[in-house]
Amino acid sequence: MAKKSDSALEKKLTLKTESAWNDADKKTVKAIQDFGEGYKEFLRVGKTEREVVDLTVKIIEKKGFKSIDKYKKLKAGDKVYMVNKGRVMAMAVIGKKGLDDGFRMIASHVDSPRIDLKQKPLYEDSDIELALFKTHYYGGIKKYQWVNIPLAIHGVVVKADGKKVNIVIGEDESDPVFVIGDLLPHLAHKTQGTRTLFEGIKGEELVILAGHQPLSSEKDAKNKIKLHILKLLNDKYGITEEDLISAELEAVPAMNPRDVGLDRSMIGAYGQDDRACAYTSLMALLDIEKPEMTNIAYFFDKEEVGSIGATGAQSNYLELSVSQIMAKLDPDFKYFHLKTIISKSIALSADVDVAVHPVFKEVHELNNAARIGHGIVICKFGGARGKGGANDATAEYMGQVRTIFNKNKIPWQSAELGRVDEGGGGTVARFLAENNIDVVDCGPALLSMHSPYEISSKADIYHTYRAYRSFFSEKDI
Ligand code: MN
Ligand code: MN
Repeated sequence: MAKKSDSALEKKLTLKTESAWNDADKKTVKAIQDFGEGYKEFLRVGKTEREVVDLTVKIIEKKGFKSIDKYKKLKAGDKVYMVNKGRVMAMAVIGKKGLDDGFRMIASHVDSPRIDLKQKPLYEDSDIELALFKTHYYGGIKKYQWVNIPLAIHGVVVKADGKKVNIVIGEDESDPVFVIGDLLPHLAHKTQGTRTLFEGIKGEELVILAGHQPLSSEKDAKNKIKLHILKLLNDKYGITEEDLISAELEAVPAMNPRDVGLDRSMIGAYGQDDRACAYTSLMALLDIEKPEMTNIAYFFDKEEVGSIGATGAQSNYLELSVSQIMAKLDPDFKYFHLKTIISKSIALSADVDVAVHPVFKEVHELNNAARIGHGIVICKFGGARGKGGANDATAEYMGQVRTIFNKNKIPWQSAELGRVDEGGGGTVARFLAENNIDVVDCGPALLSMHSPYEISSKADIYHTYRAYRSFFSEKDI
């Protein structure tokens, strides 16, 4: 922390950020810790995009939100949600102004990097007498981080008759877990030892151990170990090997969220990118009653692979969901109004940023880098190689957002993703901006982002929730 200056002029003119813990009184520390408990539970239960959507529906229905088809007409104060294909959702609190002046949106994503099973995953290595699952990883991962940790398999299988089976194996203490085995160091020198770190484990080497006990009762079977696995799956879920073709099965860390550090100031958990923002925006929306402007929270899917597909932010789901709300507010609405309404709206692209790693500071330009615990990060642009692929929010909008945060005493910091030309990344911001929406990236900074166990500061999580709530409810913008 920088030494506090005695110079009044320096205090007036210079920008300083400091740890949000510094000024936190007892009451605030308690609020931060309490908020962390709810957050950990959300992360524990929602480990896939579908699970987060299902869990969120349960949470908001208890708070008076209803599915849009339950409403004949919508009016100010109504709470409504929409789910599309089980993987993307929008939830809104209708404002006094309806939609004529646009709306306020906080958009996060609920997919996280993981290891997907291939459509024909199961095979038997008859030499070694093991059954294994082939995988195709999802999103940007350092593959070596995913070996020799306990994994759980979550997902859905759609059977030949169209019935859907939900699967979660590896979360209950009594469940078995799955492991991608690594090579022992004694024999790894000439193979893995000569590879780069990123290539230490290659994509096709992410093979999950499924079992190794043959089904000895089937004397004539060719692959008795594989058959045993298929029989166990069939006994429990009524599925066959062909059913796995119509399945989404995701291997995720079978580890629960935990406090990190003796002072319990941090949280370690899988999937905080971007459920940190999903949870905080959800909690913010739940605090809102009859706002001026309509508030909408979006949970997008497929951000980690470029926001593609019907459930990604590049789809027309934004238009579709807003037009569904409009139709219930004004049965005579015209389609061209939709574009105008969307373009008048303002948004936060709620996504996590990177916190400076104490050992690898050199990937940052420290004056423009985020510190864990220093509050929500405002990130004007992402992208790579000269801001390529970035949103690059306008100065005017940056001004509005920082004014809201200052007015509401939100600890915030400004940062970019890394040193110039060091690397880069994108969010949903650019796809929202294509609708002429004013949008900026805004979320907490994580350590060990995209790893199986990401680290956040509880203070950042709490103040992100407060920041989102102030964005939804602030009247003077
Ligand atoms: Mn993200
Ligand atoms: Mn990400």
